[in-house]
Amino acid sequence: MQTQTVNIFRARKAAAPASPSGTARRWSVDEVVELFKLPFADLLYHAQQIHREHFDPNAVQLSTLLSVKSGGCSEDCGYCPQSAFHSAGVEDQAMLQLKTVVQAARAAQEKGADRFCMGAAWREPSDAELASVVEMVKAVRDLGMETCATLGMLREEHVAQLRAAGLDYYNHNLDTAPEFYGEIITTRDYQDRLDTLERVRRAGINICSGGIVGMGETLAQRAGLIAQLANLDPYPESVPINNLVKVEGTPLENTPDLDPLDFVRTVAVARITMPKARVRLSAGRQQMSDAVQALCFLAGANSMFYGDQLLTTGNPDIEHDRALLDKLGMYPVAENK
Ligand code: SF4
Repeated sequence: MQTQTVNIFRARKAAAPASPSGTARRWSVDEVVELFKLPFADLLYHAQQIHREHFDPNAVQLSTLLSVKSGGCSEDCGYCPQSAFHSAGVEDQAMLQLKTVVQAARAAQEKGADRFCMGAAWREPSDAELASVVEMVKAVRDLGMETCATLGMLREEHVAQLRAAGLDYYNHNLDTAPEFYGEIITTRDYQDRLDTLERVRRAGINICSGGIVGMGETLAQRAGLIAQLANLDPYPESVPINNLVKVEGTPLENTPDLDPLDFVRTVAVARITMPKARVRLSAGRQQMSDAVQALCFLAGANSMFYGDQLLTTGNPDIEHDRALLDKLGMYPVAENK
């Protein structure tokens, strides 16, 4: 008991100075493992205290995601049904028309989303593809929504064009710890991901970067992912935590389930190590009970994907999410502005 009390005190003190704009605080993987191993109630209490220092604990930011180009991706990410290496049945779909994207953004806005994320299944965009996305970003911004894009790796000139278009966030996940990464993806390196994030950061675009748990990683590897994210200087403004969706036809389709309480622990540890980040519930919510999602909010999650579909996998329907937020007395950030 004595040791646990000391651990909480140390973790709390250590988390305090970390901030997206403040002095960097480095986390060792061992320190993050120590957080994961706290008694559940202590971990959630600690995460909730930090959460309340920086956010309204009842407000949740809602983002809607649209796949603007699906399938046929030349990367081999083991979890992804859009990879051309797997046979998950996702059709290779051409890029959506601008007007289709704007209609979807407007519909999402009417239903309460304040950020619209556009995703494309590419290793990296060509100049022509990037030019089309730039037009989409401008048009969605004109609706008064925040914009986010996830397009794979980016070259310097593409980052500059997105910045000029007013892109608010760029999503590029680290996916997992460096030590486990090679088990999941072989077509690009961890460093490639870090380099893209660095280019985006230097351009002044907010970073959305997180990972996926439940892919068969060890606890130390799960902690390694969180340490990597928390040690980015500064850490991401937005941190999506995904629970693996096991899609038939992908190499990870038979991965054993992650204990839902370990998912909640991951959210809490992300909150403690990245106090001012929006920690987002992302893929895998459809397979989660309301009770587990409520625990995630208690653990410090304060953002979620909102809409019936993610890129190509399912998501709880909007009516269900509205009812869940009502039951919990929570409300969208936009209603709290
Ligand atoms: S996660 Fe992205 S980069 Fe990887 S295969 Fe899927 S679409 Fe391609």
